[in-house]
Amino acid sequence: MQSAYEIKKAICEVGHKLYDKGFVAANDGNISVKVNDNEFYCTPTGVSKGDLTPDMIIRIDGNGKKIEGKLNPSSEIKMHLRVYKERPDVGAVVHAHPPVATAFTVAGVELDQYILPEAVLTIGNVPTCEYGTPSTMEIPDSLMPYIQKHDAFLLKNHGALTVGVDLKKALFVMEEVEFNAKICKYARELGGVEEIPCEQLEKLMELRKKMQIPGRHPGCKTCKNLGTENCRCKDNTAKATHTCTCHSNDGANADLVAEITRRVLAALK
Ligand SMILES: [Zn+2]
Repeated sequence: MQSAYEIKKAICEVGHKLYDKGFVAANDGNISVKVNDNEFYCTPTGVSKGDLTPDMIIRIDGNGKKIEGKLNPSSEIKMHLRVYKERPDVGAVVHAHPPVATAFTVAGVELDQYILPEAVLTIGNVPTCEYGTPSTMEIPDSLMPYIQKHDAFLLKNHGALTVGVDLKKALFVMEEVEFNAKICKYARELGGVEEIPCEQLEKLMELRKKMQIPGRHPGCKTCKNLGTENCRCKDNTAKATHTCTCHSNDGANADLVAEITRRVLAALK
């Protein structure tokens, strides 16, 4: 187990990386790590993530009340605490404003195309949550429709939120979101996006299961051709009862809901 100092130091290092990568400006962004259900470390309000030092990191309880630290917790800590409450598997949360991924939400373009194997394996499509006023309960609420099936979320006209079993994983997911958005933007500028075909997606999802990648994944439900003759998913022969094998390896109920949604949509087409 990491010592308190090690956790604080790790949070600072992630803050520095976010700042160096240009994922945050001024005092933007916040980071938290779960110790147990009623104890968390988080970044303070009003400090650049590039200037963080371990003595600035705050310890709070499950209600966001400060237990230790001279500064005050970020006003967006509500968003983190809500995530921990809904997702007991999450050990760390990172919030930043990565510019390209954020621009997708500003332009009203979904980051939902499956274009890179690494991004397919780790995050799948990234949902855009409804716009909310920062520091209110609007943003935590906006995450709720997606929280059980995803580890990465775009916040409309605002930024991104990523979660992971630990801090390293949450940071990697954030990096993956921005990298995926960049490649998607470049491809659009070069003339268009060619997605990885459905049949290949299913192989990647099998690989994800084999590799036992932790976290939640939406599966390959973004197949726009599902239920049509252009769909090349394995079982598309039985169109209305399409059974894609590419489900995430956890959340059996969530998978069932997704499968029912998928079948209803296919039937409606
Ligand atoms: Zn923000």
